[in-house]
Amino acid sequence: MSIVAERAFEETAVSEKAKSLDDVLRNASPSEVIESALRIVGREHLALVSSFGTESAALLKVMADVDPAIPVIFLDTGWLFEETLAYRDTLIARLGLRDVRSIKPQEDALKREDPDRELWFSDPDACCRIRKVEPLKRALAPFDAWINGRKRFQGGSRTEIPVVEGDGIRLKFNPFANISRAGIEAIYAQAQLPPHPLVTSGFLSVGCMPCSSRAQPGEDARDGRWRGRSKNECGIHTA
Ligand code: SF4
Repeated sequence: MSIVAERAFEETAVSEKAKSLDDVLRNASPSEVIESALRIVGREHLALVSSFGTESAALLKVMADVDPAIPVIFLDTGWLFEETLAYRDTLIARLGLRDVRSIKPQEDALKREDPDRELWFSDPDACCRIRKVEPLKRALAPFDAWINGRKRFQGGSRTEIPVVEGDGIRLKFNPFANISRAGIEAIYAQAQLPPHPLVTSGFLSVGCMPCSSRAQPGEDARDGRWRGRSKNECGIHTA
């Protein structure tokens, strides 16, 4: 069998496994989803990807209650707010996270494709590719499955995400697919989680500095991202 055929075979098997897991887990609680992921692939093969953004502490808290040693991948794009880096450190200490891996873009890619640091303006898809998509691909290489914090209530392409899906040769678990905004707020309140430092100054969703803006009255949280462009996803879930 050729490498391409082998890969296609593997992806089909993962996709079928994801569908049957989704049937079982579609009404499970977030912690049950994470427990199942851990049981199915084992800690060495499972990672959670977090932006340490405005809603991230909720998923990290649920994960930490299940197992604080699950590896957490954080994409440090080189364009993050200082407040986000500080928040990462606050949550590591507060939740007892034992394996947070801060992943940076490759230096040679930055020098070659974004020497003047203006790619976010001229070609944001390329900027996200070298600062997020490719680093995540490298970071996930040792893992068979990953967990992320997307929610259906965020709208757009997230409206119909399943709880478990195939992502190429990996399983992707979305423990918060079903949760409501009130559910997220309840986790923050119950655990007395600190808010992201930029929430008090009007940011409802925080990513890279050039591509995050304050939400205006009546806007959804993610409307402040890539303002004025048709882009609404960085590509790690869609590439
Ligand atoms: S969000 Fe903006 S700055 Fe960050 S990687 Fe994407 S385009 Fe570049």
